Parts: sequence; C-alpha cells; structure tokens
Amino acid sequence: MTTHMRAARLHQPGQPLRIDNVEKPKPRAGDVLIAVKSCGVIPNMNAIFSGTLWNHLPPLPAIVGLDAAGVVAEVGERVVDIHVGDRVYVNPWLSCGQCAYCRSDEPMLCSSAAFQGYFGFYPQSRPQLEAYPFGGFSEFMTASPQRLVKLPTEISFDQAARLGYIGTSFAALRAGKVGAGSAIAINGITGTLGVGATLLALGMGATRILGFGRNRNVMSQLKALAPKRIDTIALGEQPIAEWMRDRTDQVGVDVLIDCFARSATSSVTASALHGLKRGGIVVNIGALTEPLPIEPFRFMNNRLHFQGSNWFTTGEGQQMAEMARVGVLDLSHLTPQPYPLDRVNDALEAVKSRPGGFVNIVVNPDR
Ligand SMILES: [Zn+2]
Repeated sequence: MTTHMRAARLHQPGQPLRIDNVEKPKPRAGDVLIAVKSCGVIPNMNAIFSGTLWNHLPPLPAIVGLDAAGVVAEVGERVVDIHVGDRVYVNPWLSCGQCAYCRSDEPMLCSSAAFQGYFGFYPQSRPQLEAYPFGGFSEFMTASPQRLVKLPTEISFDQAARLGYIGTSFAALRAGKVGAGSAIAINGITGTLGVGATLLALGMGATRILGFGRNRNVMSQLKALAPKRIDTIALGEQPIAEWMRDRTDQVGVDVLIDCFARSATSSVTASALHGLKRGGIVVNIGALTEPLPIEPFRFMNNRLHFQGSNWFTTGEGQQMAEMARVGVLDLSHLTPQPYPLDRVNDALEAVKSRPGGFVNIVVNPDR
C-alpha cells in the first residue's frame, strides 16, 4: 500500500508548479478517494495562479487542478451509492450547505463557494478549500459523493476533464430554455466555452446556431459539424445584428450566449443585443468585465432579459454524461492534447496561446 503520491503544487503565486511527493489522503467517512486519470487545463488557469485577480487562492503550498476525472479507489464507511471502480468526474464546486443560499437550494450562490483545487470566491471560502485540499494535478484526491458524475464508458477520462467548461455552457443553454427549433447566437464561438455550447446546442435541438469569433479555422471546423444549422462570421465582416437578423428571417435569435472573456471589449456584445428577437435572453458566461451600455427602454418594450450564469450542478453534469452516452452530445470532435504530470507547466504554457476550442489540453497524473 503506497502511502505517498505525486502532486503538482503551487508554492508561490505566479511561479511554476512543483511536482512534490506528498502524503496520500485517506477519505473521511463520508468521502471517497479517486485515482485521477485526467485533469483539464483551461485558458484562465495561468491568470488565477498568478494571484493577481480578485480570487482567493487556497492556503499555499496547494495541490491545484480544477476538472478531474478518474476511478474511485476507496470509499468512506458512510458512502452507499458510489463504489470502488466507478468511473467519475469530480464537480469541483464546493458549497457550504448551511448558508441562506444553500438552505434555499442555490449552491451556485453559496456565501463561501469555492472551486476545489483552484480558488475561493470569498475570504470565508477558506474552510471549504481546507476540507478538500487536493486538486486534479495529483495522483489521488478526495471528494464528497454528492459531487460525482458517474461516467459511462462512452466518455473517455480526457473528454470528462472538459466537463467543467462544457457544463458552464450547458447551464447557460438551459437558462435560455434552448430546445427543439431554437435559434441561438454564440459570441466567442471559437473558444472553449463556445465550442462546448455549439456541441450541446446541436444535441439539444437548436436549428439555428450563429457564431461570431476571430479564429476562422475553428469557425470553418464548427460549420462543418452541421452546415444546415451552423453559420459563422468573422468579427468585422458585417454589422453583427444585421447579420443575425439576415439569418433568422429578420426575427432575431431566441438566445445569445455571451462567451467573450474577461479582457474582451463589450462592444460586440452590445451590438449583438440588437440581433435578439422580442422576448429573447442573453446569458453571460464569459466573465466580460467591461461595462455594457444597454437601453432599459428597449429591454422593457421588447421584454428582453440579461442573465449571468456560473458553473453548473452535478445533476446537470449527469445529464451531459447521459447525452454523451447515447451520442447526442458528441465529444469525439475534441482533440486531446495530453501531458504527463511532470510536464504540467508545459501544459499551462501551451494553453496560453489559446489554441481554440476543439483542442483539449489535459494532464494525466498516472503517466
Ligand atoms: Zn452555502
């Protein structure tokens, strides 16, 4: 029985991760131990690990890694419905279960929410990070069974390590009530969130998927997925709202999914608002920070909505797993780019160039 494991730890903000030999955790009575097979690497990670954003890093040195998938290796004595050998994705979203929001069944609004292996949203998130101090860039981690998505064999571990970002898009599409016959637009379609939103919207029955972005190569790959349903335009080619209306019989789209990232300009989102149909909804998941000018009068008259959405529930994770099992969510379009644990810093470097949403950079801690 090995007592130690290899794990990538952040010792100092902005410094490369170090591979350390640390004590292998023992699951508490209500927790499980997971042998991690794959953990996702996402564009925002370098910014978070720099420690210069508003986020609250876990106590350092910290084992990091956000989106992990693996095999259950041990279960605590009180665990009943998860078994050794189960293939699982670990939803890293930690909520306290006690605050006013959690007690009202709103874990995404938890007053001490945190991402296991990543950061806390508030100073008071620290106890949650201390309770689960293991991220996915590690051979083993613990988690509570409530946060596990059981994976069918149709989803590889590398694909499952992408469920965090795909799930964020899924919750946004659900917030927009996307279904059969929906017309949607995706701002930033070529990024990690945008590609996930496209694959999901195809599975959910959207018949018009309009996307705008900069990476023409990724846009043509996207269009090829379903040429009758997907159309894309490079930013700057034509006024966005005009283009959206041209492609929807002048009606506009039901839903605009805004995936534009933190550092982007708000002008594209502002233009795209005019391509919404009456009663339409914008759901922001990209974390755009630049203020957005809106005309409340237009929102009133046209009964428009603007909503934010963060992350997703474990239940939504399980729904995506089921969609992937039967093939309505086709994750085979993602191109895996796996790195062994020793090369975790190379993986973090590779994601900096924003290779586009089909590229799935992951770390395999068992390699
Ligand atoms: Zn809470």
